[in-house]
Amino acid sequence: MKLAARAGRIVPSPTLSITATAKAMAAQGIDVIDFASGEPDFDTPEPIKQAAEAAIRSGFTKYTASSGIDELKSAIVDKLQAEQGLRYEKAQILVSCGAKHTLYNLAQALVEAGDEVVIPAPFWVSYRDQVLLNDATPVLLETRETEGYAISRAALEACVTPKTKAIIVNSPGNPTGATYDLATLEGIAEVALRRDLLIISDEIYEKILYDGARHISIATLGADVAARTVVVNGVSKAYAMTGWRIGYAAGPKDVITAMADIQSQSTSNPTSISQKAAVAALRGGDAFPQQMVKEFDRRRRTMVERLNKLPGVSCRMPSGAFYAFPNVTGLLNRRHATGSITSPTDLAAYLLKEAQVAVVPGEPFGSPDHIRLSYATSMEAIARGLDRMENALSKLT
Ligand code: PMP
Ligand code: GLU
Repeated sequence: MKLAARAGRIVPSPTLSITATAKAMAAQGIDVIDFASGEPDFDTPEPIKQAAEAAIRSGFTKYTASSGIDELKSAIVDKLQAEQGLRYEKAQILVSCGAKHTLYNLAQALVEAGDEVVIPAPFWVSYRDQVLLNDATPVLLETRETEGYAISRAALEACVTPKTKAIIVNSPGNPTGATYDLATLEGIAEVALRRDLLIISDEIYEKILYDGARHISIATLGADVAARTVVVNGVSKAYAMTGWRIGYAAGPKDVITAMADIQSQSTSNPTSISQKAAVAALRGGDAFPQQMVKEFDRRRRTMVERLNKLPGVSCRMPSGAFYAFPNVTGLLNRRHATGSITSPTDLAAYLLKEAQVAVVPGEPFGSPDHIRLSYATSMEAIARGLDRMENALSKLT
């Protein structure tokens, strides 16, 4: 069968496929340590599960409004008002099947052949492929580890052409764990206003911040900025609800309406039961995410400290999300019994085979210098995984 060209332009999500490999190895009885999965290891809180059960028992099991139930849209409007001071009407909210689906609806609504989207690199794997799936061109804006992955106004400006439709902002970011400070966000907003760009602000890790940092949504920088920003968020990371598949967008009415129309012709509504659960999550306060972040913080320090002790590895302290993103250039061109390590992909393959430790190589995130390890796993797994890595790396010559 001759498939559409777009199917050949993309690869399956590397984060999901490496996680699936690790899970398949574990199912075969192999004692694999999984640092690949990008999801909290915590269980969904009980009151959220109870809301879902109540939805099932009361027969809330039919199609809902395709763009999401009013009750959930109200909870989202209230959350954005209370936490960010942002004012939206319900017509400016779309609930989708996870933030990944939210972003996909947006790409569908916004871009086509000839359009460009600026994506700061390193980037979360799906941004690039979603742009490609919609026949547009991703333009990578390289950022530097030594500058905390900040975006300079001049570097952004250099990527913008008359074809640029949007820039993606992801703070706290996956895979770097970096957050943008106010000056960086102001620089992006200023360029977006002047060059007529839509800002796609993926804030899915907003509640996973350390050292007292406060989340700043770029949409709060002024009414003119909010008018050209689509805030993307969801319940997956903050409430340990990755499997429930609820994400949402808040933004200009015309963009949201187009996205909602696309959703009505593709998936229809997100799961009715999950929507009720998401209401309970958003209305349930921050005690759960705060407790989870406290634990992630302990793990973050332990993992980064251990990584920095590995010869050839150096790791910045991430300020948000739950990923360590160590620089492994000091390990490249080293040899092992059956070959040599010339890239992060080789290193990830070596660690999986030699140490049964699953990590994601940097290349699919746009970095030839790093690997990504999630610390959303137990302290015990972190200790054992790092022991194994130390042992495997000591065999390199
Ligand atoms: N954005 C980023 C940066 C992510 O890491 C993820 C995790 N998969 C998502 C969006 C999508 O999350 P979900 O679809 O589970 O809401
Ligand atoms: N966002 C997570 C990750 O980066 C989940 C997997 C995915 O959807 O990419 O690993």
